[in-house]
Amino acid sequence: MSAAEWVLTGALLLEFGLRLGLEIREARMVHGKFDRFTAFRILPVVNDVFPAEANFTSDNGGAFVNAHEKAHGELHHGFVRRSLQFGFALFCALSLGAAGVYLRFNLLELLLLFHLIFAVAKIGYHMVCFTEEYEADFLAAKRVQRGVATRALEALLVKEFPRTPLFAYVYRTHPTAQMRLDRIVRTCKKSRR
Ligand SMILES: [Zn+2]
Repeated sequence: MSAAEWVLTGALLLEFGLRLGLEIREARMVHGKFDRFTAFRILPVVNDVFPAEANFTSDNGGAFVNAHEKAHGELHHGFVRRSLQFGFALFCALSLGAAGVYLRFNLLELLLLFHLIFAVAKIGYHMVCFTEEYEADFLAAKRVQRGVATRALEALLVKEFPRTPLFAYVYRTHPTAQMRLDRIVRTCKKSRR
């Protein structure tokens, strides 16, 4: 095996180990078992194709949700996300092109390299998304009554499949309802001081 193949194989094994560790931690901390999407999540490359989970609930309707969506628009969050996606595509094109030309990667190696870049970039992207979700929640909560905001998030909490924050950072574009609720309660407390 070439040095590049060793590095790629090592990185994929590391990814597999980390994802498996996350699943075990998740099962122990939240629901005590693996769900049917676990295998799709831990297998490298397969996890690029299949959805991370089936029953992720998005919120719909209600004064708080409408105010939240409006806040996304006013804060130009869609533009930020599209810019990040464009930047990512550009970065991939350049780095894969360089790996193909200078390191003479074959197609399979390029695919694996893309997968690894994608896996790391996704976590960074989710972090930005989380910040935007908190911002939209904060602005929305200021516009509706505080009780309306917390009740909307509590309703979401009941519908949503529970996940730890670490799992959400790896697999979701939205913080869990519990994370959002905690953040709203904290920021409301701060602004009342
Ligand atoms: Zn949102």
